[in-house]
Amino acid sequence: MTDSVKYVLDERDLPRYWYNIAADLPAPAPPVLHPGTHQPVGPDDLAPIFPMAVIEQEVSLEREIEIPEPVRDIYRQWRPSPLYRARRLEKMLDTPARIYYKYEGVSPAGSHKPNTAIAQAFYNKQEGVKRITTETGAGQWGSALALAGSFFGLEIEVFMVKVSFEQKPYRRSFMETFGARCIASPSELTSAGRAVLAEHPDSTGSLGIAISEAVERSVERDDTKYALGSVLNHVMLHQTVIGLEALKQFDMANDYPDMVIAPTGGGSNFAGITFPFLGEQLRGGRGIDLVAVEPSACPTLTRGRYAYDFGDTAHLTPLVKMHTLGSTYVPPGFHAGGLRYHGMAPLVSHVTNLGLVRPRSYNQLQCFEAGVQFAKAEGVIPAPEANHGVRAAIDEAIRCKEEGVSRAILFNLCGHGNFDMQAYRDYFDGKLMDLAYDDGEIAMALAGLPSVA
Ligand SMILES: *Cc1c(COP(=O)(O)O)cnc(C)c1O
Repeated sequence: MTDSVKYVLDERDLPRYWYNIAADLPAPAPPVLHPGTHQPVGPDDLAPIFPMAVIEQEVSLEREIEIPEPVRDIYRQWRPSPLYRARRLEKMLDTPARIYYKYEGVSPAGSHKPNTAIAQAFYNKQEGVKRITTETGAGQWGSALALAGSFFGLEIEVFMVKVSFEQKPYRRSFMETFGARCIASPSELTSAGRAVLAEHPDSTGSLGIAISEAVERSVERDDTKYALGSVLNHVMLHQTVIGLEALKQFDMANDYPDMVIAPTGGGSNFAGITFPFLGEQLRGGRGIDLVAVEPSACPTLTRGRYAYDFGDTAHLTPLVKMHTLGSTYVPPGFHAGGLRYHGMAPLVSHVTNLGLVRPRSYNQLQCFEAGVQFAKAEGVIPAPEANHGVRAAIDEAIRCKEEGVSRAILFNLCGHGNFDMQAYRDYFDGKLMDLAYDDGEIAMALAGLPSVA
C-alpha cells in the first residue's frame, strides 16, 4: 500500500443538510435560562443579538436542517475536506492501529471555524444586519468571521484576547486584510473592558471578557448583531458538516472508526466530527468511543462542575448548563488560545454527563511533542489546539500496539499551525512551560456560580 492515502469526496457529495443531534438525544439538554427570571429564554430575549434564523436553529428538534445554497457555494471552495489515512505516522509508531485524520486546515482561514462563520454571516445578511461584533481567542474565529464578512459585505469588529493579540500579530493582519477591525481585549471601548482594566491594568484578557465586550457593542446599535464561534447549539449544528463528510469517507475506505478524538475548547469541532457518528449510535448503530481532549491548564470537562453559569465574565449572557470552571476564571496564558474558555458547549456537556464521551486532559509540552512528531510523519504542522487531539491519537495508537489490537482511530485535525510559529519557536527554545491551573482561583470562581433552583 502507498504511504499516503487520501479519501476525497466529489463536490456532489457535499452535504445538503446539517445534522441536529437534538432529534436523537435520549434526554433533552437543559434549557437556556434568563439570568434575571431563571425562566427558559424565548426568541425575543435573544433577538437583539442574533438573527432569527439562528435562534430557530438554537432550539430546533428537526434532525436535518437544510444548508442554504449560497453557503454551500462558499463551502465548495474547500469542501468536502480530505480524510487521510496516516500511513507514515502508523509506520513511525509501528502500530497496528489504523489512524485517520479529517483535515480542516484546508479552509482559507486554516481551521474549521469558517463552517459556521459563513453560515452565520449569511443569516445576518439575509436579515439586514450591517455589522457583527465578536471575540476571538487564538484568532482563528476572528479570521473566519472576517473572511465571511468580506464575502457577504458585512462590517466585522473583533475583540481579541490580549495575550493572543500580542502573541499572534499576523492573525490581526489576516483579519484586517478582509477589512475587519481587531481590538485587544480588555479594551477602553466598553464598560466591561474598562471595569476589568480598572481592577487589573495588566490583564492578559480571556474569552469571557472579550465576549462581554462584543455583546455590549452589539446591543448598543440596532444594525449590529453578535456572533459566537463555538459553544451554542447552532454552532455545533453547522460544524456537523465535518462528521457527515467523514461518514461518507469511511464508506469509501470500507472502514468505521472505533474511536473519534477531537480537542475541546468550546466544543464545536468535537461536536462537528463526533455528533454524526454519535447520532448513528443513538439510532441503534455501532457503539463508538468518543474522546474529548482539553488542556490540563483549563480542564473544563475533567475538573469543572456541571452547573448553570454565565458564558461571559461581565454576566451579560443567559445562563447555560455546562461544565464550567466559573465565569470569572482566567486560565493561564498557554499557547492553545482557542482552548482557553471557562465553559463548554451545553450539548457537549450534556452528552458527557450522559456518559457518552470520555474526556481527558494533557499538558501543553506533551502536546507540542506529539505535534512535531505528526508534522514529521505527515507534513502538516498542526495548530497548538489540534496538538491535543494528535497527542491523544498517538497515545491510543501506542496502546493498540501494547495490547496487540488494531483499532480504527479518527481524529480531527481542526487547523494548521502556520500562524502559530511563535508557539513552536518558544517550544524549540525551551521557553514553553506546563502551566498549572490555580486550584484556589477555580474554587473562588466556582463559589461565584449563580444559584439556580
Ligand atoms: C477555535 C478552535 C478550537 C477550539 O474551539 P472548539 O469550539 O472547541 O472547536 C480548536 N482548534 C482550533 C484550530 C480552533 O480554531
